[in-house]
Amino acid sequence: MDVKVPDIGDFSDVPVIGILVAVGDTVAAEDPLLELESDKATMEVPSPAAGVVKEIKVSEGDKVSEGSVIMVLDAVDAGDAPAEAAPEAPSAEAPAAVAATGTAAGPGDIHGEVVVLGSGPGGYTAAFRAADLGKKVVLIEKDASLGGVCLNVGCIPSKALLHAAKVITEAEEMGEHGISFAKPKIKLNDLRDWKSSVVNGLTGGLSGLAKARKVHVVNGYGRFSGPNMIEVQTDDGLTKVSFDQCIIAAGSEPVTLPFIPHDDPRVIDSTGALELEDIPKRLLVLGGGIIGLEMATVYDALGSKVTIVEFMDQIIPGADKDIVKPLHKRIEGRYEAILTKTKVTAVEAQKKGLKVTMEGPDGEKTDTFDKVLVAVGRKPNGKTVDAEKAGVAVDDRGFINVDNQQRTGVAHIFAIGDVVGQPMLAHKAVHEGKVAAEVAAGEKRFFDARVIPSVAYTDPEVAWVGLTETEAKAQGIKVGKGSFPWAASGRSLSLGRSEGITKLIFDEEDDRVIGAGIVGPNAGDLIAEVALAIEMGADAVDLGHTIHPHPTLSETVNFAAEMFEGTITDLMPPKKR
Ligand code: FAD
Repeated sequence: MDVKVPDIGDFSDVPVIGILVAVGDTVAAEDPLLELESDKATMEVPSPAAGVVKEIKVSEGDKVSEGSVIMVLDAVDAGDAPAEAAPEAPSAEAPAAVAATGTAAGPGDIHGEVVVLGSGPGGYTAAFRAADLGKKVVLIEKDASLGGVCLNVGCIPSKALLHAAKVITEAEEMGEHGISFAKPKIKLNDLRDWKSSVVNGLTGGLSGLAKARKVHVVNGYGRFSGPNMIEVQTDDGLTKVSFDQCIIAAGSEPVTLPFIPHDDPRVIDSTGALELEDIPKRLLVLGGGIIGLEMATVYDALGSKVTIVEFMDQIIPGADKDIVKPLHKRIEGRYEAILTKTKVTAVEAQKKGLKVTMEGPDGEKTDTFDKVLVAVGRKPNGKTVDAEKAGVAVDDRGFINVDNQQRTGVAHIFAIGDVVGQPMLAHKAVHEGKVAAEVAAGEKRFFDARVIPSVAYTDPEVAWVGLTETEAKAQGIKVGKGSFPWAASGRSLSLGRSEGITKLIFDEEDDRVIGAGIVGPNAGDLIAEVALAIEMGADAVDLGHTIHPHPTLSETVNFAAEMFEGTITDLMPPKKR
């Protein structure tokens, strides 16, 4: 039979950018034969039937329109066609996009044109976007509620508890300014219920949004059984979910350490810490990264005596030292100890507590704590979904490599979020989810973010974006900086806080902003302006001449640019550049 270009919408004279089969190849119905690229989308021409390719009538670069004959196929009866295509070998190069044409139901109990594995911020975003683009979507989630780590046991519950912590510490600190409150009475059950109600409101909302979009949610643990099939262990048994395209969004889980008795209930991870079972008298937080420090902020406010142990020479090792210093200084005054350059080498469960051995600059010491929170990082879930049965490569650490369209080495399988790499942040997952869904729907999209901001919602907050000063210098960039101390910000002082800093990093060659570090209350909200500035290629004058409302903390971004330019009037300008 002659294979012709099907209806490709309004396009004509579309160039052939890839020929995906060779003469003699056996193809199944719907297998992609050819790749076309219009100015709006990349499309594949699927095989109209199973058979053997006899002749290819076009070459790369030829232009085709609806009805152009592209191949001759020796078609076989449907009964002779292979039931399921053989796994495709993973390939390093960016594979082709798939036509956004509808597909007949597959061999599974349920079939999705796009199946998403995991419903965290990456997964639900991808599922909803694909559905909005007209795809028939199935979303597989093992947990009872949608939303993944972020909504259930991450970003959201931690922020609710951090708000409670802030109310407590602000009330405490107003004592120094003439308003004293009694010591707070903490009803843990009520606080926990409130936190859960915040989470449930959001996760319930997601279920509603899934229904409204007709996204079919399958509840159970999914594993690949082939290149177009996931088997889901549901409460009612095994459900086979077949797919044309799949997006893996299986996320990550906390790292455990072999020398720690993780089965002892006094050893907790971030999920355990968010459960708020009790307020330990003495809490050791193992890991001075974002998650450990946020949990430390909560438990300190609730009344625990907190010790932080960090292996590196500073807490939040990813950010510049000068930006982290105000946080270090503040919590140093509140916590029992902050031990940097220190590692925990053993934890022994004893009746009276957890005996912890640590090695630091002053040698080895032991101490006993009521609880130990292990917050030493998260590991990707790539190895837990049998991805290799679909031909998807997973590296030793459990990450799945993808190209800038979020495709794995297997053309019709994408991966997004924590499972594809650092930074493991919800906003990165969300953007990757949108890219994957849009590419799956035939759109020409790439993940091309210049920067991804990071925020520690500690008190004060620490936020950074783009290059840190340390990174910029290491890259040999001629770095310029404008640093504005919040001690000169009327808004900050009126909040009773003066320790903040806004630091902008510029490329001296063209004065474009290439990074920022902000520490102080609400730094996490302020960093977004600099992220936009970097994306837009803004320079110091753009930031310095943009009128910011007064008095706000946002002015500190304006002032930091003025510090760099030497035009500041709220302070003495730094020496001329
Ligand atoms: P996840 O959210 O991990 O979701 C993966 C989903 O897949 C889960 O629901 C899981 O149950 C499901 N799943 C996995 N395997 C299977 C399977 N085989 N079958 C079925 N379902 C499966 N990030 C921020 O940006 N801001 C923050 O403030 C922030 N705070 C955090 C606080 C804490 C305490 C923690 C732990 C994390 C925090 N993060 C924060 C990180 C953020 O939660 C993650 O980056 C984000 O959730 C990753 O999204 P994801 O879609 O990749 O995967």
